[in-house]
Amino acid sequence: MLTGSASHPCLETVRARAYTIPTDKPEADGTMRWASNTLVVVEAAGGGKMGLGYTYTHSSITRLIEDKLSEAIVGQDVMNVPAMCAAMQRSVRNMGRDGLGATAMSAVDAALWDLKAKLLGLPLATLLGCVRDVVPIYGSGGFTTYSDDDLHAQFSGWAERDGCLWVKMKIGSHPEQDPHRVAVARAAIGERGLFVDSNGALTVRKALHVTQMLARDFGVVWHEEPVSSDDLAGLRVVRQRAPHTTEIAAGEYGYDLGYFRRMLEAGAVDVQQADATRCGGISGFLQAGVLCEAHHTDLSAHCAPALHLHVACAVPRFRHLEWFHDHVRIERMLFDGAPMPRDGVIRPDLSRPGLGLAFKQSDAEPYRV
Ligand SMILES: [Mg+2]
Repeated sequence: MLTGSASHPCLETVRARAYTIPTDKPEADGTMRWASNTLVVVEAAGGGKMGLGYTYTHSSITRLIEDKLSEAIVGQDVMNVPAMCAAMQRSVRNMGRDGLGATAMSAVDAALWDLKAKLLGLPLATLLGCVRDVVPIYGSGGFTTYSDDDLHAQFSGWAERDGCLWVKMKIGSHPEQDPHRVAVARAAIGERGLFVDSNGALTVRKALHVTQMLARDFGVVWHEEPVSSDDLAGLRVVRQRAPHTTEIAAGEYGYDLGYFRRMLEAGAVDVQQADATRCGGISGFLQAGVLCEAHHTDLSAHCAPALHLHVACAVPRFRHLEWFHDHVRIERMLFDGAPMPRDGVIRPDLSRPGLGLAFKQSDAEPYRV
């Protein structure tokens, strides 16, 4: 184990807290319904600074973070994030690195990068090294529980107020209603790019029909998880037979690098997705970006926009970031410094160190689990 050097401080404490925030309306997609989101916030302290990271997951991981993961990394040199990531991965070997374990390590990793950047007095984007200074976003919501008025208001807001070039809606809960719902969305956004997400609800045969119909009748240009992300062969068939104007995307459930390698090697997607709050934090997202580059495939970030903003500036083949309704709302409520969109992009505030975020502890307290 690497310990703190004479010139670098050691990691002193790692703390985790969970907050469950109700949605503003009931929400559903093709395979799930929900009425709240749980945010787990991690604070990593060392050298007189506090690093902040977070993930959206189950509240049970707070104990894993404060016991097992903390034990594995406290006392190490705060500059050596890769050494601490390796130590965390070893510590959960026998209980599972994927799923909840991966969300826990992702939140800690983000806090460690935030801490390092703050100790160096740099924005995280500058520490990582930028290839861009603005990050394109696409509006994402359009839940299958929404009324036509809800859908229209949300989508026209993203298109007109925020300047989004693309928006994404959920489909697949009630397939017979989807042509009408997609027509409402199309009317709300005019010529802007329309994406749909089936969340794995369809069979291959049904997905082929839906992809072709939505491209032909409504100009849909992106079909996410038309079939289960676990069905790489099925995704590949849909991709190969989809109209050339429709891209197939998946990857939001990737917890490790091998997952993205298998999806890319299978030729399952036109655009790879990854979520830094699940795939190993800032470190895991950067690695996914390198894999995408090796496979000549663009990478799109899934959800948690405030957490992805800086790392998105550092990934060469980065396409766009999902401006997900629930997370945008939570991040605005609970983080000072959460990004605001303008002309379809968000940009890191380079006057603030680290991720540029401060957690509003007292505002969050009513939601504490
Ligand atoms: Mg999705």
